[in-house]
Amino acid sequence: MSDKSHNNPKFVALSTEEKKTLGFWGSYFGQLTGMGLSKEELAERESKKILEAEELACKRCEQWRDELLQSSPIVKFMKDHLSRSGYEITSENMPCTKCDESRSGGFSPEYGIDLCWNGFFSKDHMEDTMAHEMIHAYDHCNFKVNWLNLEHHACSEIRAASLSGDCRLLRELKRGHYGFIKQHQKCVKRRAILSLLSNPSCKSKEDAERAVNKVFDSCFNDTRPFDEIY
Ligand SMILES: [Zn+2]
Repeated sequence: MSDKSHNNPKFVALSTEEKKTLGFWGSYFGQLTGMGLSKEELAERESKKILEAEELACKRCEQWRDELLQSSPIVKFMKDHLSRSGYEITSENMPCTKCDESRSGGFSPEYGIDLCWNGFFSKDHMEDTMAHEMIHAYDHCNFKVNWLNLEHHACSEIRAASLSGDCRLLRELKRGHYGFIKQHQKCVKRRAILSLLSNPSCKSKEDAERAVNKVFDSCFNDTRPFDEIY
């Protein structure tokens, strides 16, 4: 019995130096596994993890945004048309911010476009969102949009959903899938109604549906600035 315990390093008395090293590895493994940490230490470790993940998501958003501004045909096309309308889009005026989970981006006449670093599930999704918000910005620069007027807002949402790739019209047409038109229209309507619900002038889903249905045909067929080939 005693022989066995002498062969087991656990039972060998440690020098002060060895104890220090063990103390270090003890807390090191504690950090890795969460074992042996106090409640406060565990909470601190969790919030550190969350912060690191958020920082990463924010950096990824900025990197994708910059890459898309350089290489995405639809983003470059819209950037060019916004520039002609007097609105220069840069990385600086299209910040990545944290938003509530219902949205991936937004446009406001006061602040311009923001992108939600916690709202993207892929780079393609971010490309659609950038194009969508850029269409709102284009409408704001070129038409006298009163965003509190539900029909005005509905018109811009219909165009943004239809033209941005949210409902994949252009992609489907490029593939020759013309049968998708009907589904595409349904998708555009549904998304426009959803977006309108966040307008303070919108009191009910019926309000949103009424506004979208009233302007649907004319706004759906208004494909500016995409009349030009891009
Ligand atoms: Zn929108």
